[in-house]
Amino acid sequence: MSYAKTLRCRRCEREYPLKALSICEFCFGPLEVVYDYEAIRKNMTMRAIQSSSWNMWRYKALLPVGDNIVDIGSSVTPLVKAANLGKRLGLDELYIKNDCLNPTNSFKDRVVAVAISRALDFGFEVVACASTGNLANSVGAHAAKAGLKSYVFIPADLEQGKIIGTAIYGPTVVTVKGNYDEVNRLCSEIAENHSWGFVNINLRPYYSEGSKTLGYEVAEQLGWKAPAYAVVPVASGSMFTKIYKGLGELHRVGLIGPVRTRMFVAQAAGCSPVVQAYASGNGQIQPVKPNTIAKSIAIGNPADGLYALKTIKDSGGGASAVSDEEIVDGMKLLAETEGVFAETAGGTVIASLKRLVEAGEIKNDGPTVAYITGSGLKTQEAVLNALRTPTLVEPTFSSFEKALKTLQEVA
Ligand SMILES: *Cc1c(COP(=O)(O)O)cnc(C)c1O
Ligand SMILES: [Zn+2]
Repeated sequence: MSYAKTLRCRRCEREYPLKALSICEFCFGPLEVVYDYEAIRKNMTMRAIQSSSWNMWRYKALLPVGDNIVDIGSSVTPLVKAANLGKRLGLDELYIKNDCLNPTNSFKDRVVAVAISRALDFGFEVVACASTGNLANSVGAHAAKAGLKSYVFIPADLEQGKIIGTAIYGPTVVTVKGNYDEVNRLCSEIAENHSWGFVNINLRPYYSEGSKTLGYEVAEQLGWKAPAYAVVPVASGSMFTKIYKGLGELHRVGLIGPVRTRMFVAQAAGCSPVVQAYASGNGQIQPVKPNTIAKSIAIGNPADGLYALKTIKDSGGGASAVSDEEIVDGMKLLAETEGVFAETAGGTVIASLKRLVEAGEIKNDGPTVAYITGSGLKTQEAVLNALRTPTLVEPTFSSFEKALKTLQEVA
């Protein structure tokens, strides 16, 4: 039983039945799932949620899934009070939403769980994706669990951790000699010629809804209220817009008060089309050629870029782009203060947060949530040369004591 009713074009509002379709046939606008919010309001009570299992399916009423649920063991991820980092930055109520702790170590398990569940409903035998890395891991894992064949397409120059972390699940991995935007273009063509379920192409309306759970969980973990500020890494812009949508839905169904969350986009300076569009103020996304260590968010032509701009505007938020050096510093700062090893996207968020606080755009007047969406174990190359080398000793006490003396002299 699902409360999802139809797909609706975000541009011209034409409606379509719930099928594997992501683009309006009349105006080429993106399609979005429409729900029966009145029915959800009646049935999705706080008590019903609180007595559900501790994973994203506790918000199933607001997700476009039916009877098939593909679950590889995702849990609600921790919202950690970041007291040490908060002190450094001058924020009394800073929280880290730690999505490194999903089964394939990134937030992509949320979106893929919905898309692959839906792929089973639609009867697809093959699923696929165009990925910047984390999506590939998650599609590989969920397809394995669902017993589906899978093809994942990635740029050939991705980090080893992302490639190995995909291949282990046994999909066909196709490495493309090009950047993500070229991979995506190729996949759109493949999707037209093969009846495969591409999670982020023809299944995109369902896939993208999974990110709303990042809004639901944070609100519940804050004691059923929306944060004052959210800093979110942006690639296509989908997650960013859906976190805000999710918070708005919780208000709409009566679970939280009015949402006043200011939404902030974090991008790498080497690929920041949304930040540039925001800064220029002309409301246009100018595609760029990515050149950054933050490969997971390196999308030069973001599909949801305009909607991300709208979310910034509607929420009174902002945007920040940071250099690759700042990203590495951000990764180190988060690890050294909070014990969280985030990937480059997380470093982008922490470095952006720092800048936004310094600029007075984020103030110390309410809960701030930094969304940490992927694990640093997959992007070790990024910090390899920025860390202290280990201290090598002989297996003797005297050798260690000598080394210790040198270490203490240096410190
Ligand atoms: C995919 C990804 C994002 C951004 O996703 P979009 O919804 O396309 O903006 C952010 N962080 C990580 C780690 C990702 O893998
Ligand atoms: Zn349309």
